[in-house]
Amino acid sequence: MYLKEIKDIYRKELAHLYPREEIDSFFYYCIEHYLGMERFVLALEPNIVISKQEEQPLFEGLSQLKLERPIQYILGVTQFMNLVLKVNEHVLIPRPETEELVQWILSNSDLEKEPLTILDIGTGSGCIAIALAKALPKAQLYGLDISEDAIEVARENAIANNVSINFIQKDILKGPELQLSFDLIVSNPPYVREAEKKEMHNNVKAYEPDTALFVSNENPLLFYEAIANFASRNLKPDGALYLEINQYLGKETKALLEAANFLDIELRKDIFSNDRMLKGNIGK
Ligand code: GLN
Repeated sequence: MYLKEIKDIYRKELAHLYPREEIDSFFYYCIEHYLGMERFVLALEPNIVISKQEEQPLFEGLSQLKLERPIQYILGVTQFMNLVLKVNEHVLIPRPETEELVQWILSNSDLEKEPLTILDIGTGSGCIAIALAKALPKAQLYGLDISEDAIEVARENAIANNVSINFIQKDILKGPELQLSFDLIVSNPPYVREAEKKEMHNNVKAYEPDTALFVSNENPLLFYEAIANFASRNLKPDGALYLEINQYLGKETKALLEAANFLDIELRKDIFSNDRMLKGNIGK
């Protein structure tokens, strides 16, 4: 079969679900992943023909895309800050806004020189912890998560990316006692309110872990409260807390850090100009 015919089948069968550009990008991810074929190959050789055996995974991928399963789960991998990470339904698919959070942390130029101790709360796939460990070879990284299944994925990702991370299975809402203190604590906790679900695409709602995403309408900042409490106890003097936040709750989340006596609080927008990140310092 001509490869370009399969591209047309993708476009036709997914047209009711996704915009054309997104469908094409799914198709290219699939040929790259399953056939090791870079996307420009089809433009250079428009009449390229593939065998029955090569067709098979492309059609299997398509049938899962029709069920709105995210492409990252279908392929089992994604990219985060140039790292290749394994993902499955036990972990949230890393988002570009979380890359911005990591970049913000790393923009503090003196970090690299220090042997810092850093904790990522709700580590999921391990994306934040692994990206920090890669960029800060002297740092000692910890990743905490409630889910044993998520930690399993994060552990594999740490090994595959040649970094060493200490994983801790605990529920941050239970105010865990750790005999450790940190220079930096970072977290991208669940923050999407039930009421905001309707803004979300089916592929997120049906496949991504609820525990990583959703909070109640009544108490949407419960994780931030628990994290601020934990950070007040477990940050070293002058230590800093970095958070990804709900874009609609910037003011409220900032007020929560103020109430917990954090200093030098800074609220930042993401590239879409949404309030998305917050930083606070614990003081001396
Ligand atoms: N930014 C993610 C989304 O909107 C949510 C991440 C989270 O809840 N921590 O899908």
